[in-house]
Amino acid sequence: MSKPLSILAQGVRASTTIEIDSMYKKMKAEGIDVIGFGAGEPDFNTPDNIKLAAIVAINNNFTKYTPSSGTLSLRQAVCDRLFEDCKVSYTPSQIVVSNGAKQCLYLALSVLTNPGDEIIFQAPYWVSYYEMVKMTGGNPVIVETGEESGWKLTPEMLETAITPKTKALILNSPSNPSGVVYTKEELQGLADICVKHDIYVIADDIYYKLIYDGLEFTCIASLGEEIKKLTILINGVSKSYAMTGWRIGYLAAEPEIATVIGNFQSHASSNPNSIAQAAAEEALTGPQSGIETMRRAFEGRRDYFLEKASKIKNIKCIHPHGAFYIMMDVSYYFGKNLYGKRIENADDFANLFLDKGLVALVPCTGFGAPKHVRWSYATSMENIKTGLERLEIFLEG
Ligand code: PMP
Ligand code: GLU
Repeated sequence: MSKPLSILAQGVRASTTIEIDSMYKKMKAEGIDVIGFGAGEPDFNTPDNIKLAAIVAINNNFTKYTPSSGTLSLRQAVCDRLFEDCKVSYTPSQIVVSNGAKQCLYLALSVLTNPGDEIIFQAPYWVSYYEMVKMTGGNPVIVETGEESGWKLTPEMLETAITPKTKALILNSPSNPSGVVYTKEELQGLADICVKHDIYVIADDIYYKLIYDGLEFTCIASLGEEIKKLTILINGVSKSYAMTGWRIGYLAAEPEIATVIGNFQSHASSNPNSIAQAAAEEALTGPQSGIETMRRAFEGRRDYFLEKASKIKNIKCIHPHGAFYIMMDVSYYFGKNLYGKRIENADDFANLFLDKGLVALVPCTGFGAPKHVRWSYATSMENIKTGLERLEIFLEG
């Protein structure tokens, strides 16, 4: 009998978003007429100028190792973009480029966390936060939010959750899955508490370009030197430039923190892909107008979805102001039968809807919101129309 695997690793659950997306892609490849609202990735293609930069990089044999935290020119491009878009000033030595924002989050948690340290984040939360905190030896401390606080964490709620073991707060605005966008004042309130208690903030800004209703993005690190020193800012090119498969994300932090993270990465994975770095540099420095085209398309789809869904009985959507997800409360159906099957929870609902309705959704059980399922509207209007029609038929049971 072989020895058991690490206890920490055995406790890790597969990512629901990735799992559902794989299932959807498999069904699709088998010729099944399934519609996917699962994993959140823009359905747009990576812009041509970015693709060309990668082709040029290959042709120029830019195919060797780079500095493990990323090329100097890419890190400078990150600094320039952060300065322009987020009003925060960093130097290249404060930047680490990695394999997606996901890897940046993992690196940040790895270097902050001692065994048993508490990491606070709100529910609903992105599924990977919970697992990553456990994977890096921390204890997730989840603060429930609901309609009363607009699905937001308030300074009071944060302060109540803080203990002597608290190490960091993970903040995600615009949020996956709720689409919540924090105002400057709200972030200031949270920043004040973090400064008062000397707590790091891992600010996951990956959806910063996807904001609707005329709201504006605020980067928490821009709210003053004290909070900036405590912030590990996470961002990347996946969502803003339709580059999910290229796997480039970046983080910005105090120089000492960035150095430790860079050391960590130099042993864990070395540099992210050199060609993808060249593409990301073009994304950050080239024309930015494609983002607005995409943002507008998402806003239109969101409006269309909410309008159509508002006419469907017994379900209720959270109105998102950012990202590209809609959380739908389906708890009316819990304890009831559809197609002769009893629905006990959001997982049952999503499984049965995939089976009978041929629509792939993510149940929000793994997001700390067990009454909800999540639709990603980063898909065509046509798919949204058909998906909601299928929902109506499905709910007839
Ligand atoms: N943070 C959030 C909130 C996300 O939804 C995602 C999903 N892609 C990520 C980070 C990771 O993005 P990336 O593709 O850059 O790893
Ligand atoms: N972040 C996206 C999602 O939540 C992509 C999949 C993933 O990385 O989890 O669906």
